[in-house]
Amino acid sequence: MIVTRFAPSPTGLLHVGNIRTALHNWLLARQGQLAGGGGRFLLRIDDTDAERSREDYVEAIRADLAWLGLVPDAEERQSRRFDLYEREFARLAASGRVYRCYETAQELDLKRKVRLGRGLPPVYDRAALALTEADHAARAAAGERPHWRFLLDHDAPIIWEDGIRGAQRFDPAQMSDPVVRRADGSWLYMLPSVIDDIAMGVTDVLRGEDHVSNTAAQAQMFAALGATPPRFAHEALLVGTEGKLSKRLGSLGMAELREAGIEPEALVALLGRLGTSDPVDPALDADALATTLDLARFGRAPARFDEAELHRVNAAVVHRLPFARVAHLLPSGMGEGAWDAIRPNLGHIGEAAQWWQVVTGPLAPPPAPDAETAAFLALAAETLAGQAWDDGVWQALVDALKTRSGRKGKALFLPLRQALTARDHGPDMAALLPLIGRETALARLHAAAVAAG
Ligand code: GLU
Repeated sequence: MIVTRFAPSPTGLLHVGNIRTALHNWLLARQGQLAGGGGRFLLRIDDTDAERSREDYVEAIRADLAWLGLVPDAEERQSRRFDLYEREFARLAASGRVYRCYETAQELDLKRKVRLGRGLPPVYDRAALALTEADHAARAAAGERPHWRFLLDHDAPIIWEDGIRGAQRFDPAQMSDPVVRRADGSWLYMLPSVIDDIAMGVTDVLRGEDHVSNTAAQAQMFAALGATPPRFAHEALLVGTEGKLSKRLGSLGMAELREAGIEPEALVALLGRLGTSDPVDPALDADALATTLDLARFGRAPARFDEAELHRVNAAVVHRLPFARVAHLLPSGMGEGAWDAIRPNLGHIGEAAQWWQVVTGPLAPPPAPDAETAAFLALAAETLAGQAWDDGVWQALVDALKTRSGRKGKALFLPLRQALTARDHGPDMAALLPLIGRETALARLHAAAVAAG
């Protein structure tokens, strides 16, 4: 059974990078489900920071995940789990794995500089470990409250086989004992996350590579709490086309993408493969991506997110969307035949309305043609009037006109398209003409058959 979790802090809206992480965790759990071994995807709201966490962000996170179809099997909130953290913290305190410290930020900064000056790694010197109970009592009496650090075990290197980065090795002596609790009693991210991962039976922690050094410390926290660490995998950071995480990309939220006409299927298809050398395939839905997901295929090089590519994938996705999926988004009266005719020309679903307007009219009058083209259009009207009106009407019309006018290629097709749609490009006329209808088509050809001058 695979258990994954997506653990955003509700201090802002989800951006493309978070969504990629959420998607990959969802895919991993889904892969377990589809393979028959079972899989659960948890949403864990990391809201220990009461000041910065906001309820509207929690709701936006849920809505964005729902929009993408990444529905969690359960939702947990850290702010409701403080009792558990307190109990586990007490266990660590009893076994001496957390200890009280009093240094201010300025003091720590100074210590760091001194150590660097001496050519030593700028890690915390553990001076507070030397404090006696009498020292602590004196500080408490003076109104001072401690913050707490986790005591790293320096005896053995920290190693793990990372699902993406391969063998990882950290020397704990080169790391500072991480602060896990502030002087006001509030929790920093590290320890509650480990406590939750244990309590929720998380088997796979998949997150950004900015967490690699946290993982080194957290690996020891799992052990200190008597648990086996989960499998870890750290994804390369997402960068924009300019090569770094631009402000724009860092803040590109789902609402903005929705408004730009991006469909969830397109984001899933692109982000599902982003960071691998596998091609993006707009035909793959989430389950197909889940089946083929292989962390070993994710590279360590930064994953490049290209908004233009997202729009291209979106167009390809829209071209495949069945009528039932889009019916409620189309102008009223636009049926399945019209959707099938028009969708190959869309970059996003919203553009369907423009083409439906082309079908139903009224159209802006096209520029008046020269005398010869006007005569050709008059001939087209006459030919069309004498034809059977069925699904093959366009082909029959152009076949007849080829013979009757001697025109071919662009000279044949373009004036007809302009007269019938007031555009130079667009959906296949064979599909469009039956939708336009006999009366309207004849009226448009007659109207266009008036020469300039
Ligand atoms: N709340 C943390 C973050 O957003 C969670 C990291 C994790 O997945 O453990 O960075």
